Amino acid sequence: MPDYYAVIGNPVAHSKSPLIHGEFSRQAGQDMRYEAILAPRDGFLAAVAGFRQHGGKGLNVTVPFKLEAFGISTRLTGRASAAQAVNTLVLEGEAILGDNTDGAGLVRDITDNLGFSLSGKRVLLVGAGGAARGVIVPLLEREPRILAIANRTREKAHDLQRRFSGFGNVVAIDYTDLHGERFDLVINATSASLAGELPPLPAGIFAAGSLAYDMMYGNGHTPFLQFAKREGVAGLADGVGMLVEQAAESFFLWRGIRPRTDTVIEMLRSHA
Ligand code: NDP
Repeated sequence: MPDYYAVIGNPVAHSKSPLIHGEFSRQAGQDMRYEAILAPRDGFLAAVAGFRQHGGKGLNVTVPFKLEAFGISTRLTGRASAAQAVNTLVLEGEAILGDNTDGAGLVRDITDNLGFSLSGKRVLLVGAGGAARGVIVPLLEREPRILAIANRTREKAHDLQRRFSGFGNVVAIDYTDLHGERFDLVINATSASLAGELPPLPAGIFAAGSLAYDMMYGNGHTPFLQFAKREGVAGLADGVGMLVEQAAESFFLWRGIRPRTDTVIEMLRSHA
């Protein structure tokens, strides 16, 4: 019988994870099946228990269950522990290992796929929600000169500064204080693009040769990437690469094989 994996969320029908892991397992010749599980919002624990009873070996966890997944893990990787959120579970008998592969996926996309070195750079992270929190430590590990965090609810950005200051040079900054500042990399980790909105970023924040990265992906350029383009930025990237790279990290955790990602990124782009 093939080994059983799934992505669990609510909603989950839009998830590209079954497509991505289907490609990875085909490519790597793995005998596994991968499905999408829609769990009721108050039914995460029961859904995980049912999945285990059916012999499930690993789960990807998406909105809104990343905190609950953190809570049920009996063991955590360092990066999951720092993020206080889990997007990958490995089920090992009674034990549950929780990991967070989002940050590693983002960093791999930026450095390996886009060829952008983070070392010594000025980086602005826009947003302080779950996605932002998960990428801070992996970004700081690449030793940027500074990692500034701007958020609509300013207290959340200050909270992240306090929590992560032991990992590197991280500072909270208000949107209004961004005037006159320049960054080599600006990452949009807000959900503003989902509503067709742009965070209140001032003109002139992009340094020469900078990269604008939106974690959101979909058809065409997001409002943030359109803004960057108007500002003359040549390096524009959406979150498809991050999505595929975080999936590859999960696959590695489960199967011990690092799948090729470039063909899968290309496939998703041609499906968009
Ligand atoms: P959360 O709901 O946890 O956080 C949303 C963040 O966006 C908050 O910081 C919020 O600010 C901010 N925000 C929302 N609307 C606006 C606005 N109009 N102007 C300014 N700021 C705004 O969401 P997540 O962190 O989970 O997800 C954020 C984005 O990242 C989503 O687009 C998601 O699709 C994407 N993502 C992509 C992944 C990938 O693999 N490519 C993986 C994970 C996420 P406030 O605190 O003030 O409410």
